[in-house]
Amino acid sequence: MKKIAFASGKGGAGKTTLSLSFHAFLKESSLFADCDVDAADAFLLMEKELVSKEPFYSGKRYSIDSALCVQCGSCEARCSFDAVQLIEGTYRIDPFRCEGCGSCIDVCGVNAITEENNYCGDIYYSTTKKNSEMFYACLTPGEDNSGKLVHLVRKAADARTKELDLDYLIIDAPPGIGCPLMASLTSVDLLVVVIESSKQGWADALRLLELSQKMSISAVVIINKSGLNTETDAAVRAFLNEHTIPLAGEVPFNEKVIAQLNNKELLWDSEDLQKELLPVFRNVKDVLP
Ligand code: SF4
Ligand code: SF4
Repeated sequence: MKKIAFASGKGGAGKTTLSLSFHAFLKESSLFADCDVDAADAFLLMEKELVSKEPFYSGKRYSIDSALCVQCGSCEARCSFDAVQLIEGTYRIDPFRCEGCGSCIDVCGVNAITEENNYCGDIYYSTTKKNSEMFYACLTPGEDNSGKLVHLVRKAADARTKELDLDYLIIDAPPGIGCPLMASLTSVDLLVVVIESSKQGWADALRLLELSQKMSISAVVIINKSGLNTETDAAVRAFLNEHTIPLAGEVPFNEKVIAQLNNKELLWDSEDLQKELLPVFRNVKDVLP
């Protein structure tokens, strides 16, 4: 099984639309994992039927039972994060301030503070419109630890790809170069860096290319929406040439992309766009180690 991740270092570069189309190009021999858990959107274009949903818990959530609380104020004094607040005569714990250290429990003499697993989102497993399967997850707004959630999506997707004896796992990686991205790149065979034809797109992708070198991950580049900024396109080509990083191809800016997305269809489902994507995807497949 080969694992191929699509990343761009930023949002909006087109990695999701390209990775979904690449998945369609590979036909039923691949499984899709959307690891962008803070803004999962691949399912909007690809999901056929939801098969299962698992809750994701991370850390602990604390609350005060006002019926038991005798208002001694010890927990408020103990909390270093000002998470315990007296509001309208009742002690409460603000979940956005609480760091989950648990020390308020230790000082409450009447056991009025309870601790429970913190629900942070869900992991989904679905069939797709392309006769394949996909995993994705949605993190509850305001929750952190998306790296752990990405790890769980990857774990489930890796296991299912092995179980079905598929040839490829396609990963839509999150933006940035932080913990969620690192979790999505674990043990990948190839990183497809989607560079948007813009100054910012190139600046963010450059950090990603540096990271791939540090992590010793083979990388190949697609310049997306090429022609929007010809100076950037030229700078990217020159950099790749100088550093012997393969360029799989360029996908010119095309307004048909917007029409496809508005119709909830993959770029691959448009005959014209498919013609543009086909040589690029073949090149990606050819550089697989
Ligand atoms: S768990 Fe820690 S941070 Fe949260 S309210 Fe209690 S003492 Fe404050
Ligand atoms: S320590 Fe317990 S009893 Fe005292 S204010 Fe906090 S919750 Fe209430």
